Amino acid sequence: EKIVIAIDGPSGSGKSSVSKAVARHFGLEYLDTGAMYRALTWHVVRSGASLEDPAAIIAAAEDFPLQQGTNPDAESILVGGTDVAEEIRSPEISSAVSAVAAVPRVREILIQLQRDFIAGASAGIVAEGRDITTVVAPDADARLLLTASEEVRMARRGLQLGGTQNAEQLKAQVAERDAKDSRVNNFTEAADGVVTIDSTDLDYEATVAATIAA
Ligand code: C5P
Repeated sequence: EKIVIAIDGPSGSGKSSVSKAVARHFGLEYLDTGAMYRALTWHVVRSGASLEDPAAIIAAAEDFPLQQGTNPDAESILVGGTDVAEEIRSPEISSAVSAVAAVPRVREILIQLQRDFIAGASAGIVAEGRDITTVVAPDADARLLLTASEEVRMARRGLQLGGTQNAEQLKAQVAERDAKDSRVNNFTEAADGVVTIDSTDLDYEATVAATIAA
């Protein structure tokens, strides 16, 4: 019997590392939908489209040669054969991604792609993002919202980025991205039937254990 686990949460909630650990635990595939929006943003920037031109953004989304791996132990993401794993985490992409993700037709295209990944996962999959529990896979076997206090989230983001960015700057950027993203999807409150896991006072192991138990 195929298992689908949906996990949503804001930036720095720990959802990527927790989702991967849960996928490993149950022997499932793993889909990082944020990476998909980031890779499309890379493709949009690369194609020279303006972020203020929805028609150009949509054209890039309709011709998006994405290859994304779903192995939680060997993530890979390529666009037109170019490995973009590092570049999609850059400040440039991080600050542009919300604008791309806010275009309704772009969401339609990526949501379809995400549902194809879910349908194609033979044993099952853990999919994480902002709208997985509500839009992409509302029928998932388990639906979870990972949260954490803003302070803890910022500290985790800082660690993830290697502590190279100015803390205040980083905080402002993440807050701005969360504000833009939450106009598109409400991922700060759990929808009906979605279990909230607050990891503010939990370390990584405890968060994974709580998620698996849920
Ligand atoms: O999860 P991550 O922070 O990498 O996501 C990057 C961006 O992709 C988010 O800021 C949001 O704009 C977009 N996103 C989305 N829907 C998802 C996942 C990500 O709009 N399901």
